[in-house]
Amino acid sequence: VFVDDPCMLHASISLDPKQAHHLFDVLRIQKKETIRVVSKKGGTFLAHPLDKPYLYVFDEIEVPRSAKHITLCASLIKQDRFELMLQKACELGVTKIVPFTSAYSIIRIDQKKIDKKTERWQQIIFDACKQCNRNDLVELEAIQNIETLHNYQQDCNLVCYEKQNDPSFHISHLLKRDPASVTIVIGPEGGFDVNEIDILQDDHFIPVSLGNRILRAETAAFYALSCIDYQHSL
Ligand code: SAM
Repeated sequence: VFVDDPCMLHASISLDPKQAHHLFDVLRIQKKETIRVVSKKGGTFLAHPLDKPYLYVFDEIEVPRSAKHITLCASLIKQDRFELMLQKACELGVTKIVPFTSAYSIIRIDQKKIDKKTERWQQIIFDACKQCNRNDLVELEAIQNIETLHNYQQDCNLVCYEKQNDPSFHISHLLKRDPASVTIVIGPEGGFDVNEIDILQDDHFIPVSLGNRILRAETAAFYALSCIDYQHSL
């Protein structure tokens, strides 16, 4: 489980109603079972259940975190596909997700609904991190635009561009040195406008290919993240 509060050894913590219901009513956790608790304030702990919604924290454990920092800058795409992308990106080891608007995004965000949307995205990320047993929670940034993506640059900065025809710019070549941190940009259903690619290139993002087939945006994200993970595992 993930908790917002800091955890103290030999003290009890209270779960939020949703997690408490899942653990106590759905999974029907038994008193002697051990639960791993990740505090959003830091640290991973072991706990036993007390009465709903409480847990008793009895140990702190060292858990190696992924050495690699991966930021996915994801253009806004249709809601169900964007949400699938969020979920799968968490499973595939992303550290930070940066949604952004782009010229050919077919989705326009209604400012009045932004808080609700962000809350929903946070929940999807939370559930995905929990489901795949991560020790950290993926960060979700506020919605950006092409001009502000340079703020998310790291050691290796790539923009996936289906018009990159040079085979030496296939993503796998750019990842060969296994950079410690990677920022990857994925465009919308309609692709990038040439001006947007120019802006990103001026900001030192390298246009890379994911092969000859044109992938849907969410597939492109899965492909790129899988390549990063594979390269890191070698
Ligand atoms: N509208 C474009 C077209 O039909 O030519 C396709 C855009 S694609 C559906 C959405 C995004 O996925 C692109 O902006 C790009 O970031 C990424 N993408 C898809 N296929 C790719 C490929 N073969 N190489 C690099 N990026 C790709």
